[in-house]
Amino acid sequence: MIASSLGRATRSVANVATRSNVAAHSSAARTGAPPVPIAPGAWLGLLGGGQLGRMFCMAAQSLGYRVAVVDPGKDSPAGTVADRHLEADYLDPPALATLRDTCAAATTEFENVPAAALEFLARELRVAPGAASVAIAQDRISEKTFLAGGGFAVAPFAVLRSRADAASIDDALLPGIVKSARFGYDGKGQVRVKTRDEVVAAFDAMLQSPAVLERRIALSAELSVIVARDDAGNVAVWPVAENLHRDGILDVSIVPARIPAEIAAQARTLAANVATALDYRGVLCVELFVADDTRLIVNEIAPRPHNSGHYTIDACVTSQFEQQARVVAALPMGATDQHTPAVMVNLLGDIWFDGDEAAPREPDWTRVLAHASAKLHLYGKREPRRGRKMGHVTCLGASQDEALAMARAIKRELGIPGDDAPALRGSATKAR
Ligand code: ATP
Ligand code: MG
Repeated sequence: MIASSLGRATRSVANVATRSNVAAHSSAARTGAPPVPIAPGAWLGLLGGGQLGRMFCMAAQSLGYRVAVVDPGKDSPAGTVADRHLEADYLDPPALATLRDTCAAATTEFENVPAAALEFLARELRVAPGAASVAIAQDRISEKTFLAGGGFAVAPFAVLRSRADAASIDDALLPGIVKSARFGYDGKGQVRVKTRDEVVAAFDAMLQSPAVLERRIALSAELSVIVARDDAGNVAVWPVAENLHRDGILDVSIVPARIPAEIAAQARTLAANVATALDYRGVLCVELFVADDTRLIVNEIAPRPHNSGHYTIDACVTSQFEQQARVVAALPMGATDQHTPAVMVNLLGDIWFDGDEAAPREPDWTRVLAHASAKLHLYGKREPRRGRKMGHVTCLGASQDEALAMARAIKRELGIPGDDAPALRGSATKAR
């Protein structure tokens, strides 16, 4: 349906060099020949205007590309830095037709982009990641089924499609968490349950939309691995991040994770295997749980750069965003080595409020910048809200202890809770 209406949309004037690239890519896809690199100067399209898109734009622009962003918001973080902002819905036929006609390739920055939009673009453009991988990751049922089917360890789970499913779950899955299949993020769309009645009540509260019930695991640590995979199947893996959450939202990422070297190696291999099993193209995050100090369980996958990978901007040879641009443009991938120990601290809207909910005030950034090795990133969001991701700080240290001490100090100075949490002091598995 979308295809036929888009087919009728007016074609805008195409960039000739770009169009020849596109043709080369389409034929490469058909013949299996390696794709022709898209030279800097060309336009790259991006679906989504959030902070991940903003950092993608900046990285792509610094490589010499121009970026066109489709996002319905007026002052979106990516839209305001893009070379062109198409203020439209992701399925808007004219907007998608403009991307198709002006861009040499397209990508996305959030997993809830409609698969139909990526499929439409993929008919004529190089698109990474592909609609099929995004469709798997955007639905917890297909994601868990894919992972379990591929032999990857996941938390024991049951699929809830009806009230009867909810009422007849295996008690071995309790205590558990009911998670909506679609549109969950930052712990939203999740309810913790202890009894069958609570499972049914949670399913009802989610308006009986499809969900999974997952057994609650005793976590010794939470990790994530960012991985990139190119057309030839080469995989680039960054170091493992150790993630601390507060109220279901990522609070701090410590990299490298304070875990035994064998577990870190297993985590990296696991993430690379997930990318390969998905036949993935682009940047992917694999979130992992560590159970019993040794067992790795895949929590979920995100088909895009990830909050826990922001440290790569300041602490690695190639950032997750530059790598996304490189893979989208069919360029060789960059090195993923980490050159400096790093601790990333998320900046949520809460720190704009000092008792008075009606009068948010800008935090005192000079306190952050007074730490000469703290790298401040603000996303340009006009309206601070509690729980809203407004920016992040990456603390770089000559040693990990130095980076941790800086993160604790910055949290304290900005009034972010948890500056004295044991996990920010001791080693990951001992402290938790
Ligand atoms: P995000 O968008 O931050 O990735 P999300 O809403 O997609 O979050 P999950 O990653 O599934 O949700 O869960 C959020 C957090 O809840 C996890 O990081 C973990 O701390 C906790 N959690 C989720 N599932 C389990 C589980 N099965 N056992 C124990 N803790 C869990
Ligand atoms: Mg998660």
